[in-house]
Amino acid sequence: MMGIGAGVLVAGGAAGGYGYRRSLRLSSSEARQVEKAHFLVAGGSIGGLTVAARLLRGVPNAKVTVIEPRSVHHYQPGYTLVGAGVYKESDVLFDQGSLMQDEMRWVKDYVEAFEPEHNRVVTRGGERIDYDYLIVGLGVETDWDSTEGLSAALETPYAANIYDLKSSSKYWQLAKGFEGGDAVFTFPTGYVKCGGAPQKISFLSEDLWRSQGKRDRVNVHFHTPQAALFPAVPAVNEVVTPMMEKRGLNLHYRQALRAVDPSTRTAIFEQLDGNGGSRELRQHYDLLHAMPRFRTPAPLRNGPLTAEGIGGQLEVDRHTLQHKRFPNVFGVGDCAGTGAAKTAATIRKQAPVVVQNLFDAALGRSLSGVYDGASGCPLLTRYGRCMMFEFDYNGNLVNEWMYQPTKETRRWWQFKVHGLKRMYRHVMLNGWV
Ligand SMILES: Cc1cc2nc3c(=O)[nH]c(=O)nc-3n(C[C@H](O)[C@H](O)[C@H](O)COP(=O)(O)OP(=O)(O)OC[C@H]3O[C@@H](n4cnc5c(N)ncnc54)[C@H](O)[C@@H]3O)c2cc1C
Repeated sequence: MMGIGAGVLVAGGAAGGYGYRRSLRLSSSEARQVEKAHFLVAGGSIGGLTVAARLLRGVPNAKVTVIEPRSVHHYQPGYTLVGAGVYKESDVLFDQGSLMQDEMRWVKDYVEAFEPEHNRVVTRGGERIDYDYLIVGLGVETDWDSTEGLSAALETPYAANIYDLKSSSKYWQLAKGFEGGDAVFTFPTGYVKCGGAPQKISFLSEDLWRSQGKRDRVNVHFHTPQAALFPAVPAVNEVVTPMMEKRGLNLHYRQALRAVDPSTRTAIFEQLDGNGGSRELRQHYDLLHAMPRFRTPAPLRNGPLTAEGIGGQLEVDRHTLQHKRFPNVFGVGDCAGTGAAKTAATIRKQAPVVVQNLFDAALGRSLSGVYDGASGCPLLTRYGRCMMFEFDYNGNLVNEWMYQPTKETRRWWQFKVHGLKRMYRHVMLNGWV
């Protein structure tokens, strides 16, 4: 099964292979020119490191520095499978050192401040690092305190959340031992890291309780401030919504979580009327998977690289991924304010564009790399079944021939569980995107 999934991707990948080689093809004099520049990567996770590794594929002697404080790298797309009892915590952890290539200088510290007028970054330890080109890949973080009472609720035996690894393991224990009552899942306001994960864990939990013979004792509620389950991809929404209604999920639209009261086990929502008004709604829970809001790390959201009205994200052109005011600054991944989905699948498409444009900039050419908003989602609909799809900025499905996106299949489940982690680790992090 996995072979079939891999096979189709390889077929699709072959089509991209020509583009892959072309975007990295530099003459030796061009490579020497690029070697004069210093590329500084802020954030050494999947975004920053995919760009750094690919840069070195094109120009092996390029000067690349990566600022990353962590010793342990988290494969976050695996968190959902930890919450579903399919992976163990150790399955999603990598030694950060094993991901850093010898050619990269690793500064194991935090970015404290960006000083783009001086082409400089200051670290928490006080090091001042100059650059010719800066690539920002700081990601986004969960702001647990953005929802009143949520942090306290997560300390109780009735709530857990798959966006934190320890809490994801706790979620699996809670879901597995759940004996019935109101199971409440929510979707946040603002931008979301992996906008499909809150849905996936509710679908898998519903399936778990069905297989355990408890389904008739559980009321499954999914509350979202949006007007649909998957508004970003209408073709998928049209298929999945009736599927979930048929499975008895209570879908509550235009409901934004405002607070949680752990003492009475109540989730408090604003029911939005679509005209700026709202009224309060209260929902009892026996099991809660509530989503906080997201934000970018402090040096980005409080610094000079963001702008008004974009929630602290990096202010980039959504097609070239170049900063709108500082042309030697580029963005990749979740922290970039492009409006694209915040997923590793997005990074697979963005990283080649960033590298192509970095080479263009270093060679004094106009930028030729264009990102079209492409992203993907392995939508786990039940144990053993997954819908896989790719979409663009307009919410249109792309490469439908390859994915058969509106079908729940076992092969995409196998690929999500066994294939995607390998692709992340060995293809993306080695710059072979
Ligand atoms: C529950 C869950 C399920 C998901 N499912 C999927 C999925 O099925 N498919 C998919 O494609 N994606 C999925 N994702 C999303 C995917 O994990 C993210 O989109 C991806 O990790 C973003 O990569 P990034 O490099 O932009 O940011 P991150 O991976 O978040 O990394 C940011 C890095 O910046 C570093 N950093 C932060 N602050 C500083 C600082 N001040 N100085 C220096 N470094 C700093 C951090 O240590 C970190 O290493 C999921 C995520 C979650 C949480």
